Amino acid sequence: MKVTPKILILLFVFAIISVVLVRYQVESQHKIVALYIGQVTEQKKLIVSTLIEIQGDYYKNLVLDYTYGDDMIQFVGAPDYPWAERSLRVIIDFYKANVVWVFDSTGKRVYGTVEPQRDDILDYPVLSSQVRQLLEQKKYIHFFIQTSAGMIEIHGATIHGTNDKNRLSGQNGFVFIGKLWDDAYIRRLEHSSGCHLSVHFHKPLEESSEKSSIFIVPLQNPWEYRSNAFLKVAINLEKLGEVGAWFDRQFMLFVAATILGFFILAWLLLRWIVFPIRRISALLENQNLPIGAEPHPGGNEFKEITFMINDSIEQANALRVSEEKFRKLMESTAAAIFIHDGDHVRFINPTAEKFLGYSIAELQVVPLSKILVAEYLRLFQKHPGALTVDADHTWRNELRFIRKDGQVRWADVTSVVIEMENTPAFLVTAHDINARVQMEQELVAAKERAEQADKLKAAFLANLSHEIRTPMNSIIGFSSLIRRESVSRADIEEYTEIISYSTNRLLRMIDDILEISKIETNQVTLVETTFSLHQLLDEMVVYCREEKIRLGKPDLAVELALPRGGRSPEIIADQARVSQILVNLLDNALKFTRNGTLRFGYSLRKDRFCEFFVSDTGIGIPVEKHKDIFKSFYQVDYDNARKFGGAGLGLSICKSLVERMGGSIWLESAKGEGTTFYFTMPFRIQKELPRRTEQKPVEYDFKGLTALIVEDELINARLMGAMLQAVNARVVYARDGLSALGKMEQFPEIGLVLMDIQMPGMDGLECTSRIKQQWPHIPVITQSASAHHEESGKCYEAGCDDHLTKPIDTLKLYQSIFKHWKGSGS
Ligand code: ADP
Repeated sequence: MKVTPKILILLFVFAIISVVLVRYQVESQHKIVALYIGQVTEQKKLIVSTLIEIQGDYYKNLVLDYTYGDDMIQFVGAPDYPWAERSLRVIIDFYKANVVWVFDSTGKRVYGTVEPQRDDILDYPVLSSQVRQLLEQKKYIHFFIQTSAGMIEIHGATIHGTNDKNRLSGQNGFVFIGKLWDDAYIRRLEHSSGCHLSVHFHKPLEESSEKSSIFIVPLQNPWEYRSNAFLKVAINLEKLGEVGAWFDRQFMLFVAATILGFFILAWLLLRWIVFPIRRISALLENQNLPIGAEPHPGGNEFKEITFMINDSIEQANALRVSEEKFRKLMESTAAAIFIHDGDHVRFINPTAEKFLGYSIAELQVVPLSKILVAEYLRLFQKHPGALTVDADHTWRNELRFIRKDGQVRWADVTSVVIEMENTPAFLVTAHDINARVQMEQELVAAKERAEQADKLKAAFLANLSHEIRTPMNSIIGFSSLIRRESVSRADIEEYTEIISYSTNRLLRMIDDILEISKIETNQVTLVETTFSLHQLLDEMVVYCREEKIRLGKPDLAVELALPRGGRSPEIIADQARVSQILVNLLDNALKFTRNGTLRFGYSLRKDRFCEFFVSDTGIGIPVEKHKDIFKSFYQVDYDNARKFGGAGLGLSICKSLVERMGGSIWLESAKGEGTTFYFTMPFRIQKELPRRTEQKPVEYDFKGLTALIVEDELINARLMGAMLQAVNARVVYARDGLSALGKMEQFPEIGLVLMDIQMPGMDGLECTSRIKQQWPHIPVITQSASAHHEESGKCYEAGCDDHLTKPIDTLKLYQSIFKHWKGSGS
């Protein structure tokens, strides 16, 4: 229920209670008046009775006085009228009685006197037998008679002598004194009692009204049981009745005043309290005054309140509008905005949530140190005083933030010190500049790379020139020396050895350059074959030993470190690539180590990676150069490189190949403390073979071998023939694939085929597969001038037993024949 009806009900109840209380009061007053009237009536009764009694006693004493004495006896016996006129007439004249009768003892009236003009009364037979009888008994009686003049009160007594004080003797006569209850007498009584009196011979109604209270006094004769006259006494209550009416009027007045007061109060209540409160409620509900409404109704305290509320609502509205603007600004801005107190973030806008990846709820518990890179944290100290700020307390910098997912992002940050909940805080506006910074970093890196590449290429070109000219110089110089007749056999051997070494060096250089270009154009393919790891490493040992002699380092120890157990794993991998990497690393170790030991080996890791290492006790690589060592054309010391040779491609090729195979390469080295290179390679084991003991013959002799040389280039065919004839083999030539098949038919003694791949007509690959189909037991060794490694793969696919790359290394050719020709006893 609303307040207004409540207050109205309260007022109404209050009015009703007041009316009831006043009514009760008025009723009480009425009761008091009634009580008072009762008391007054009783009092009047007493007064009237007493007055009648006093009056009666007066005449009683008078009659008793006159009837006691000898003179009265004497008079009755001998009436003396002059005496009677003297003595008895006094009763009327002086004692104001109206009539006097004197009778003798016989009942004869001897004297009578009456008021003038009332003579008829005198004849009234006052001494009736009843009266006489009663008088003789009681000596005195008192009674009323009705006469034509009105009601007379009679006092009668028997006459006695002076010596009969107690009236014991018989009667001597009778005296009656009558008092007429005439108007004068009644008025006197009325005057004395204050009541209105009237005599009635029949009993009147005892009716009381508001104006008067009436009671009846019976006037009874002693011989009768009923009254024969009544005195009606009426008490005037008009004044008291007025009091009661006055009370009633007062009450009515009070009721009227209460009703009027109720309405006035209700009206004032509505005007002064309810309406203002309603207005205030409406104000609070609508948050605005209705258009045209008075801002502060009523002229009381509510005016101030309404004014204040209106003001505060206006302020709140203004604040809401400004907050709305602020919220929209915060939501729509592309800047990440947040407020923090140095420890925690207290506010964050949606862009900042996206930028940091945290919600505001999460940031309540995540400390600032988790979202800001440590080096910048000191900039956001708890106390703003610790900051170096501009005059306007702003501070700008580019910082790195850590996102929830761990990503680090750059932002251009403006920070300003503000006050939040009475403590200093930082309002941070951040613009995501990660893409820009990344681009800048990439540009710088690219620039550095380009500069370095430039430098490297310049160094490489210089190096390349050196690397080509040096062996060329040897080849050209020693070739011309050989032609001279005076040259001895020993010199020729030495010269050809130098020429051979120089061509190999030249060839390696060309191979490396081709390999690098293949790597850069992503053309490296892997060809997996099954091979014996130990056999490969054994070959490396042989290679190292030959190389160290050639490099003039006979004291350099070469050690192969194999896992314990001596079992040789037959693994499936790209053998050519593995040996290419190993040769590169071993070449470097041999190159940069003068004394000490060159150690290499492998271990098979449980994660199915084969880990190789090549360790030396050479000049070592400074730690700061490690990061660049695998870059193309990079050399630690370019002067040294001149001395040792090389174009800075070996390690770059190694790294690319290792990574292409799915492994990794790294090194441990420091300047002057030797170097160890490690690389890994995933592998599958075919089976394990007992380690083969080295069976390399000191001198190759292929007596009994008839080899078919399939080659379209005459010079190459001749060279090959010379190489085979040098080790006692017989040679049959074919210039293309078809003639090769014919020769196979023609010379069944052919035990081995040396097949060139690029030939007109039927090429080497097809010819190889045909031969292998028809004569599967005959080994075919293919050769090609292509540096492309995948060509060897095709040859193996065609069925060849081994593949050699031109220029053919005599030793490798012999090793291959030794390995595959059944007649070699392998
Ligand atoms: P290069 O053909 O010039 O040897 P590499 O890529 O193989 O090219 O090697 C790059 C450089 O790394 C070398 O010039 C040399 O300075 C350094 N280096 C490589 N291996 C070793 C090693 N075992 N000991 C010392 N320095 C080495």
